[in-house]
Amino acid sequence: MSEKLCQSCAMPLTEELSGTEQNGAKSEEYCLYCYEQGAFKQPELTMEQMIEICIPFMQQSGMEAKQARHLLQEFLPKLKRWQ
Ligand SMILES: [Zn+2]
Repeated sequence: MSEKLCQSCAMPLTEELSGTEQNGAKSEEYCLYCYEQGAFKQPELTMEQMIEICIPFMQQSGMEAKQARHLLQEFLPKLKRWQ
């Protein structure tokens, strides 16, 4: 398993969901929702805000909000953007 995750929002990073670098190349680290042309789309975003954004997506896959928040609070701090 070498699945890449966005280092900002933790969603699986596929070819078509990759963000772009300044030179137009695909980002190896961030998705297109977080990152475009070499910059974060929401540079002021805090990790707590990111958690709140992610919870509804995790609820869509059947997880309870409380559980989703708990998982995100464990996992997001390990990602590059939040270190
Ligand atoms: Zn992302």
